[in-house]
Amino acid sequence: MGKIVEQYIEIAKKRNPGEPEFHQTIEEVLTSLEPVLEKHPEYVEAGLIERLIEPERGISFRVTWVDDNGKVQVNRGYRYQFNSALGPYKGGLRFASNVYPGIIKFLGFEQIFKNSLTGLSIGGGKGGSDFDPNGKSDAEVMRFCQSFMTELYRHIGPETDVPAGDIGVGAREIGYLYGQYKRLVNRFEGVLTGKGLSYGGLNGRTEATGFGIVFFARNMLKACGEDIKGKKVAISGFGNVTWGTAWKLNDLGAKVITISGPDGYILDEDGVSGEKVDYLLELRGSGKNICAPYAEKFPNAKFFPGEKPWGVKADLYIPCATQNEIRIDDAKAMVANGCKFLCEGANMPTTNEALTYLMDNGVTVGPSKAANAGGVACSAIEMSQNARKMPMQKEEVYAQLETIMNTIHDSAAAAAEEYGFGYNLVAGANIAGFLKVAEAMMAQGLV
Ligand code: GLU
Repeated sequence: MGKIVEQYIEIAKKRNPGEPEFHQTIEEVLTSLEPVLEKHPEYVEAGLIERLIEPERGISFRVTWVDDNGKVQVNRGYRYQFNSALGPYKGGLRFASNVYPGIIKFLGFEQIFKNSLTGLSIGGGKGGSDFDPNGKSDAEVMRFCQSFMTELYRHIGPETDVPAGDIGVGAREIGYLYGQYKRLVNRFEGVLTGKGLSYGGLNGRTEATGFGIVFFARNMLKACGEDIKGKKVAISGFGNVTWGTAWKLNDLGAKVITISGPDGYILDEDGVSGEKVDYLLELRGSGKNICAPYAEKFPNAKFFPGEKPWGVKADLYIPCATQNEIRIDDAKAMVANGCKFLCEGANMPTTNEALTYLMDNGVTVGPSKAANAGGVACSAIEMSQNARKMPMQKEEVYAQLETIMNTIHDSAAAAAEEYGFGYNLVAGANIAGFLKVAEAMMAQGLV
């Protein structure tokens, strides 16, 4: 790691103590940017990196609500508006008990580059709360969402900041959040994405992230002379992203052999396809243990309690659960099993140590910033649909998504090549995402 980069990481650590996930993403991104900064000393002079790692604005607020037993509950809400050089802040809201500023900042920082890669006019931001909707009643989730939005509404808007879903925030939460926003501002406008189809949502948005991941993986394999058809794929998670990924993998003739949940993982050598993918949809967001009921319903499947699926032999691995789910031991197991391809579905699912090990051992990695950008890209399409006030057809959305994912792959590959990294999509995605933001920031002066 070069001196300049080390210096920025030190600044970030000092300003954001005790936030390892945020430090991790800064280190991963800035390491790839070294040759770019060498070529563009004007970026260093303009304090561009120092500005990039500091959110333009961050809010933290109390969320008070009453549970079904009449007990007062207090949670924390956050929105980090990271960078608006390319457009309104855009990024999801995560509701999970482990949410704290380090998680929201890592997600917000990644979102800057991801959103830039889509080629659409969206800046980067992220928000959320340490509220966990799992196990709560609909009425409790509604009261929480209404209280959360009662503060958040004054900081967002269709031209300012457009939140969406993430872990723990799906169609139900977006609906309650939208209802409260509309009540407060008395305007029906596209302030959130991932909305229901009856009130401005985009046809195809739900499966967009998963579909995009598979389109990206297909490009990656093709560039290495391989076809996704017939490949055995190990995936993790059971949420929205996993479901869309499994659906599209089956569509393209690949075989999904694993899924995972809080209780362990399922190895289904017959393939997670057909009614099993529909079953995923049923389990999605239930927050319940999903592997035991899956194994009961489909007895050919094997259930490995308390384990992750990274020890199985597969042609392609797609982690879709959460950050840092692939650690060094998992990476070693993958390499020992002859792993050649890893495509990241979840945000930052691989630790930096595991990532380096995989790449040093010849694994081609599709980084999440690029591979899972299809979700936010379709969110931007939803914003434009709302502004035009004209609904779009699913086929149109799918076609746009596919083109965007192909372009993201190609621009990441080209940027890596240009800066001497070879076919390194991790470096390429960081560089291609950064260059556009840097150009816009330079043009907009010292703000
Ligand atoms: N949470 C998603 C992501 O990580 C979607 C964000 C959005 O649609 O704004 O990209």
